[in-house]
Amino acid sequence: MDFSFSETQRHWHEAAAEFARTELVRPESDGGPADRGGFWREGYRRCARFGLTGLPVAEEHGGRGQDLPTTVAAMEGVGYGCEDSGLIFAINAALWTVTLPIQLYGTEEQKRQYLPGLCDGSLVGANGASESEAGSDIYAMTTRAERRGDQWVLNGRKTWITAGPIADVYLCYATTDPGRGIMGISAFLVGRDAPGFRMVREIPKLGMKGVPMGELAFEDCRLPADALVGREGRGAPIFQASMEFERGAILASALGTMRRQLERCIHHARSRRQFGQPIGKFQSVSNRVVDMALRLETSRLMVYRYAWLKSRGDEEASAAAAMAKLQVSESFVQNSLDAVRLFGAAGYVEETGIERDLRDSVGSVIFSGTNDIQRNIIAQRLRLG
Ligand SMILES: Cc1cc2nc3c(=O)[nH]c(=O)nc-3n(C[C@H](O)[C@H](O)[C@H](O)COP(=O)(O)OP(=O)(O)OC[C@H]3O[C@@H](n4cnc5c(N)ncnc54)[C@H](O)[C@@H]3O)c2cc1C
Repeated sequence: MDFSFSETQRHWHEAAAEFARTELVRPESDGGPADRGGFWREGYRRCARFGLTGLPVAEEHGGRGQDLPTTVAAMEGVGYGCEDSGLIFAINAALWTVTLPIQLYGTEEQKRQYLPGLCDGSLVGANGASESEAGSDIYAMTTRAERRGDQWVLNGRKTWITAGPIADVYLCYATTDPGRGIMGISAFLVGRDAPGFRMVREIPKLGMKGVPMGELAFEDCRLPADALVGREGRGAPIFQASMEFERGAILASALGTMRRQLERCIHHARSRRQFGQPIGKFQSVSNRVVDMALRLETSRLMVYRYAWLKSRGDEEASAAAAMAKLQVSESFVQNSLDAVRLFGAAGYVEETGIERDLRDSVGSVIFSGTNDIQRNIIAQRLRLG
């Protein structure tokens, strides 16, 4: 058993943190600081040039050919160095739910068409699964895809789509056979300019302001026959694979954010004085910091364990992903709330940036399947359901 980084992992982890600290500082002329100005496309391109958008993608398709633990190490590094968690979420959402599924399930032609652009940042990907009446119960989706001649025709709506308003390519799910439930779901690649495809609206939200969320409409949207990813009626395994990647790895960057947050809290507990002494001398304050450190350490172990299991092809990876997601997201919210408490009013006001982590963290208990759904997955693994 070895808990240390390999040389390559250390390189990507440290280089990503340094890159983020120096290159992902958004200038005021470009909507800065951090995420005040919405999506920062130049920041996205910089991340792509650094290699983040295609880290686990094969080199022949424009990626860096790194394994999952190395990718997770880099994402943790960038989360540590970058305060624009919306930007980092956009990169993660595209990587785990569009780019990797294309690499795993796409035809050679689809890989050639999309992967180089997704890796070099000229294309931003988004995942279109949720509908207003199909969230946790995702396979109740009603977006319909029908084969007409040599085309697919899609009708329906998708909502809460991360990067929906600004993406270039969408991996969307629709039913090709409503009578077959989960076995009727198929996956399609949809370009932003596909006829009959429309961004309905941007949906304002609590946090991660650096990436917009949107609602999409398919109105007799016509796609070529080769827009289908995988086989007809075999979209669910593609969706499940993308969700497993998300659960296990999307919060690696949150580990970096929690580390930065913890360091700020330790510094504040040492330097802020009340009643003639540093507040860290009060046991209720130091206990709070200790609990934050404990949550971060357990979260880290679980994310790296998932990456390790997955890279070995271990079937335990799926439950490990659900456990990691549950642990990291709950820890992220709790640590962010503790940070606000520890800073007092300075934690509550916008100018210190402490409250932003709390707003950014809340979505993590909902996306990739709510934490109730993660518990259901783990309970099934324990043969309880
Ligand atoms: C920040 C963010 C980003 C997102 N990005 C995307 C995206 O890019 N693409 C996309 O397709 N979707 C996206 N989503 C949507 C997300 O996948 C759904 O919100 C999520 O699956 C939950 O569905 P829902 O919101 O409809 O909640 P509901 O399913 O209505 O759930 C409501 C409540 O009921 C509980 N519940 C429901 N069913 C069960 C059950 N069986 N057992 C126990 N409890 C249950 C839930 O846990 C929750 O507390 C995003 C959501 C957020 C918050």
